Amino acid sequence: MKVTMVGTGYVGLVSGVCFADFGHEVVCVDKDPGKIDTLNAGGVPIYEPGLEALIAKNVQAGRLSFTTDLAAAIDGSDAVFIAVGTPSRRGDGYADLSFVYAAAEEIAGLIPTGDEAFTVVVTKSTVPVGTGDEVERIMAEHAPRGAFEVVSNPEFLREGAAIDDFKRPDRVVVGTKNAQAEAVMRELYRPLFLNETPIVFTERRTSELIKYAANAFLATKITFINEVADLCEAVGANVQEVARGIGLDKRIGGKFLHAGPGYGGSCFPKDTLALARTAEEANVALSIVSAVIDANDARKRRMANKIVAALGGDVHGLRICILGLAFKPNTDDMRDAPSLTIIPRLIDKGAEIVAYDPEAMNEARSHMPDITYATDVYSAIDGADALVIITEWNEFRALDMKRVKQLLNAPNVIDLRNIYRGERLRDLGFSYTNVGYPAVS
Ligand code: NAD
Repeated sequence: MKVTMVGTGYVGLVSGVCFADFGHEVVCVDKDPGKIDTLNAGGVPIYEPGLEALIAKNVQAGRLSFTTDLAAAIDGSDAVFIAVGTPSRRGDGYADLSFVYAAAEEIAGLIPTGDEAFTVVVTKSTVPVGTGDEVERIMAEHAPRGAFEVVSNPEFLREGAAIDDFKRPDRVVVGTKNAQAEAVMRELYRPLFLNETPIVFTERRTSELIKYAANAFLATKITFINEVADLCEAVGANVQEVARGIGLDKRIGGKFLHAGPGYGGSCFPKDTLALARTAEEANVALSIVSAVIDANDARKRRMANKIVAALGGDVHGLRICILGLAFKPNTDDMRDAPSLTIIPRLIDKGAEIVAYDPEAMNEARSHMPDITYATDVYSAIDGADALVIITEWNEFRALDMKRVKQLLNAPNVIDLRNIYRGERLRDLGFSYTNVGYPAVS
């Protein structure tokens, strides 16, 4: 099969590379010539484990290429994927679909019109219910003689584990009632059929909603355990043991039950907001989703207060070392990262910030140009009055705590990801604060 991927960001690039690795011929297109130049020069514009090697392998095999020229890419394609961004619209939280609709219009002008031609246009971007109908309308308006079918195929990969998620997904969801389009989608995902990955064929609107319902449910799970963590702190219980105790129940499941500073990232915040707006428009109460959004926003803001309280109520003039800026480990993605809420609040309260992240510092600089960025973990810690862990990168999990204590100006550790054991750190003479544990006097 020949595939065009329109949009070469986290999802488009990973999906394109993985389809190529399945054996298809893939052309990844982006409007940003900088991204395409980087890829054509053998670089990778994002950090994602394993991606560089997989790109090199498939480019070398002649199955994968990159271009800004959509017309050349679409020529002869069986499927054209739309994998452009759908950010929150400024001000109202609706999904901004302008990139999706612009891509649809461009694609419409380029699909072939001959008798034999049939193009499947696949929305991989996360889009609200009914977007496929509008894409179809745009396509019909701009390609009245084209033979095409608009299919929904939402993506569930997680940044940081994206390749494995794409190649070994829990399921693939395809929304179409057109047999010819279904056959093309089956062929594209054939290697997964062979692995017995469940493929859910459904109607387009249902497929669109599955993606939002999945993300809203996961965001709810995180927010639930975060609120339970607050209760644990207040009543003297241990959230990790509560999470284990409930997570072993198969009806609940142990994943997404890690208490922390609140969810962030490029998906949960914007997708929960967009789902709430869809529900409002449909006059349906999604009160749980609305409560999750509010609770998570408030939580991120409260984390700065938690740090200040752990440091005696006043951080004016204190130097605070922040480890981890990305919204989660193994990515350089800073979109809606908790660090972006926490750090400016600490600065407002008079703290000086020195930060370190293994991959996200370049991206972080554009959001927070005025903090100090260290070159490695230990130089970030050197001379600080407190060490705060915001993102649980593996390299922060086994720090040499004796060295950390020598380097710190004062032995304060605030661990918003619960990656250290309180007893051990307190034995070493640290003042240690984490999330969802009884306070230690
Ligand atoms: P991104 O911002 O990383 O990438 C989008 C790319 O599309 C950009 O490189 C942009 O230049 C390009 N683009 C925009 N309009 C274009 C056009 N007309 N022609 C060619 N290129 C164009 O976004 P992303 O994180 O890859 O997300 C894409 C979609 O996938 C979103 O809807 C998102 O919600 C969804 N999604 C993302 C993730 C994730 O983890 N990032 C996971 C699942 C689903």
